[in-house]
Amino acid sequence: MGGTTGHGNIDGSPAIIHPRLTGARCRCGACGENFNSVSAFDAHRTGSYWPIQRVCLTRIQMCTRGMSLNPAGFWITETRSERAASRGRAAGSGDRAPGGPRVGVRP
Ligand SMILES: [Zn+2]
Repeated sequence: MGGTTGHGNIDGSPAIIHPRLTGARCRCGACGENFNSVSAFDAHRTGSYWPIQRVCLTRIQMCTRGMSLNPAGFWITETRSERAASRGRAAGSGDRAPGGPRVGVRP
């Protein structure tokens, strides 16, 4: 007898591949929308993890939640322009005198 019983049957592990979306932009394979960040991507998914009932929000729902589509075509969770505008300038640092052209001294 020479039975080679080397059946390495790997069974039981679900063939679910979760692509690690870290850092940069990502695209949803379910709805096909592009997202500028993982947080934006995560924000458009709703439902429970187990049982897996994760669904995508519609565009209207995303807009309702404060998300918006940037000019590049990526969904973002918030606009940054508001943050930059809140930076108040400390007055007094620049001693700029209104240099008016002093020409023509009138008698
Ligand atoms: Zn989606």
